[in-house]
Amino acid sequence: MKNVICDIDGVLLDGNQLIEGSDAFINRLLEQGNPLVVLTNYPSQTAGDLRNRLGAAGIDLPESYFYTSAMATAAFLKKQGGHSENTVIVGDNLHTDILAGIQAGLETVLVLSGFSSEEDVERAAFRPTHIFPNAAAINVV
Ligand SMILES: [Mg+2]
Repeated sequence: MKNVICDIDGVLLDGNQLIEGSDAFINRLLEQGNPLVVLTNYPSQTAGDLRNRLGAAGIDLPESYFYTSAMATAAFLKKQGGHSENTVIVGDNLHTDILAGIQAGLETVLVLSGFSSEEDVERAAFRPTHIFPNAAAINVV
């Protein structure tokens, strides 16, 4: 059972709009019982703000699932007993989400529904473990 750290913008939401199928992805993780945190690259947004944004788009998660990116990886891993193996980070930005994941020793999933493109991957000096068109297509969690 993998632990999942999931970015919001570009993965679950495009602005305030649901990215098609991302609600099914989150619901599947909850049903499977994967430990989950969702995070943002905008630290000024509180867990309550994020909960309201996702809720308005149709993804209903309690506030305890939300973290700002600065604290997310550390807090999440601490909660899981400090283990980075068996934890996957899902993000749309190679140079924030994916690089942070690689540096933390995590399995990484890049989705192409947001910031980074396949061309960006070809130009980068590092690679995500997996690449999917969007969250709905992820089949490794
Ligand atoms: Mg993002």
